[in-house]
Amino acid sequence: MAHSQCERTIIHCDMDAFFAAVEQRDRPEYSDRPVLVGGSRERGVVCACSYQARPFGIHSGMAMSKALARCPDAVVLSVRMERYREVSRQVFAIFADFSDRVEPLSIDEAFLDVSGCRRLLGPGRVVAAAIRQRVRENLGLPISAGVAGNKFLAKLASAAAKPDGLLEIGAGEVDAFLLPLEVEKIWGVGRVMAEQLRELGITRVAELRRLTRSQLERKFGGSGLRLYELARGIDCREVETAREARSIGAEETFARDLEGIESLRLQLLALSERVAHRVRRQGLAAAGVILKVKYGDFSTMTRSRRFAELEQDAEVIWRTATDLLASTDAGRRPVRLLGVTLTGLAESAKMQPELFPDPRRERRRRLTGALDELCDRYGADGVLRAVLLDREGSVQRVKKGKDGGE
Ligand SMILES: [Mg+2]
Repeated sequence: MAHSQCERTIIHCDMDAFFAAVEQRDRPEYSDRPVLVGGSRERGVVCACSYQARPFGIHSGMAMSKALARCPDAVVLSVRMERYREVSRQVFAIFADFSDRVEPLSIDEAFLDVSGCRRLLGPGRVVAAAIRQRVRENLGLPISAGVAGNKFLAKLASAAAKPDGLLEIGAGEVDAFLLPLEVEKIWGVGRVMAEQLRELGITRVAELRRLTRSQLERKFGGSGLRLYELARGIDCREVETAREARSIGAEETFARDLEGIESLRLQLLALSERVAHRVRRQGLAAAGVILKVKYGDFSTMTRSRRFAELEQDAEVIWRTATDLLASTDAGRRPVRLLGVTLTGLAESAKMQPELFPDPRRERRRRLTGALDELCDRYGADGVLRAVLLDREGSVQRVKKGKDGGE
């Protein structure tokens, strides 16, 4: 069933309850206790919780007060981001020992392409077991790994292996694994698409398989074609080391076409944050931005602009995208989809130091640096957005969506 031309050996490695696990390792007296890492007891949010806290229904992103109501005995610890960054560097140094093709997804998660390691290190499953053993022995921390022929399946496998497990989805096991899954598990299926599928009576991958390629394309456009392939376990995306990513984009298809310019500006804000977060995460900055607008009649246009200097600041990206939006028919014609793509990516070390740094901008840069890490914990929703919206004097919430292709 898999496309042989893009079949690789991919491992997805993901630390288990990373912040909480580091705390439990550093303070062994808490190793068997429910540990909540996050903000204050009264007003904070849970950034990570140990597996001992999970049976109480606690998860990251939950209000600390609510978590404590469910588990009053939990140990509450504040976030020590410097410490987690330090441990993260040690984890990634281990990954680098096993493959030079490592794509970081967040502070504690990466894809490794180990197709070229077979002769030296053995098959994927053996390499993954060796990585897990090394992380456990050298760092005293649990890590889960998924092994498969592509990124999509490897990530599903590691999620299924958690906590502290290893799962391989072999070529002959893809259908048995995929068919019973809910469609939301498929990369790129957000709330909107899941709802549209539900309206067609489709909740599981097995049901999705009954739709033909052209039915899916008619319904969802390009995303429909991707859906068709993913439902069959086909994913040709390569593991991209940070150096190679040329562009990073995110787009959002709306449940109902949007007419008002204000709601479109807010959607752009959410998209700008998502792409800014992702370039910073990879230590990159962008030379320019492309705005994509698809109207209700499916006609599509793009506008692009270069920044004055390399950028990774969500607010600058947003202001530029908003300027570009003003040169379209948005606000006069219904809009079905918006996309924001950052182009000309370069390592952020190359960013020009400013001669006369703007203190507001400096403050923002420091703030977003710290918040990026927290956003990872919430699925990149919430924190930054709240900060930006607040500055704009608006408290409207923006619907969350899934990121588009790299
Ligand atoms: Mg993790």
